[in-house]
Amino acid sequence: MRPFAYARADDVATAVRAAAPPAPTSLPPTAAPAQFIAGGTMMLDLMKLDTMRPERLVDINCLDATLGAIRPGPDALRLGALVRMSALGDDPVVNRDYPVIAQTMNLAAAAQLRNMASLGGNVLQRTRCQYFRDPSWKQCNKREPGSGCAALTGVNRKHAVLGVSDKCIAEYPGDFAQALVALGASVKTQGPAGARTIPFERLHLGPDTPDRETVLNPGELITGLIVPAGPWTRRSLYLKVRDRQSYAYALASAAVALDLDGDAVREARIGLGGVAYRPWRAHEAEAMLKGKRLDEASATAAARAAFAGAKPREHNGYKVELGRRTLVRALMQAKAMEVTA
Ligand code: SF4
Repeated sequence: MRPFAYARADDVATAVRAAAPPAPTSLPPTAAPAQFIAGGTMMLDLMKLDTMRPERLVDINCLDATLGAIRPGPDALRLGALVRMSALGDDPVVNRDYPVIAQTMNLAAAAQLRNMASLGGNVLQRTRCQYFRDPSWKQCNKREPGSGCAALTGVNRKHAVLGVSDKCIAEYPGDFAQALVALGASVKTQGPAGARTIPFERLHLGPDTPDRETVLNPGELITGLIVPAGPWTRRSLYLKVRDRQSYAYALASAAVALDLDGDAVREARIGLGGVAYRPWRAHEAEAMLKGKRLDEASATAAARAAFAGAKPREHNGYKVELGRRTLVRALMQAKAMEVTA
């Protein structure tokens, strides 16, 4: 691991000042000299691998009093960026009113990691692509723009099939983000240029700039997340399919939320994970279900629409069928949920 400086911030303004670049820069935030650290479950991992090389870490754990709350309300669920995954997964109101969110927490990582990992860091998880994580591979547009992509002709069994390009086919590895994208959440940030609120669906960028993963600027801190309330949040769930039943990333996953009138779909919200370059909202599938009777046939048609644009490579073609089946199963399980008013 390379040497780095360490600073602890006592409030948001100090943290942002400490992480702000000294001069305007075109660097993507992940390459900026200063990085925020909370749980450290991703940052330290990537620093030890020499994939991330920050010169300075700004520790934000002391901001827990301002950024560590779970606040359910009639209009929205407000989550501080420093809420730990385990706290959100255990929260009784979230389990009742937003089960899809609680499930994305409890099906992720291991208990020790969930106790440490923060929500802000969680949504900024970087890909598990082995060619990205191992700097001895020279071809990786995400680490070194213009160097190529070793995964295109390498082992790509776990890579994405949706939203990919010839520049990068890395899969977005998180779970929580699929629930956030499905539920139309927003991200609150504070940066050198001030505060802003970003629709979650626009936080992550596409594969044409693999090294630039989000619209965040260097020194911009995620302070919280807002999940709007809606008639679909209680009938919601997360289905995750993986190589083993614990401590593994999704090969395919679906976060679904339904507002039903009997068997008919008033509104369906769908996020797909493990199969896409970024948190993926399946708008086409949602549109196909709206107003229809939800059954195996309509769910299958929606799943086909969700994967119509899939671009599989040599080893990950199975993800198209697996992703479709995962979505169908998630929709049918959500329909069968017993939901109390
Ligand atoms: Fe790098 Fe993306 Fe290619 Fe992986 S898929 S080697 S992250 S450019």
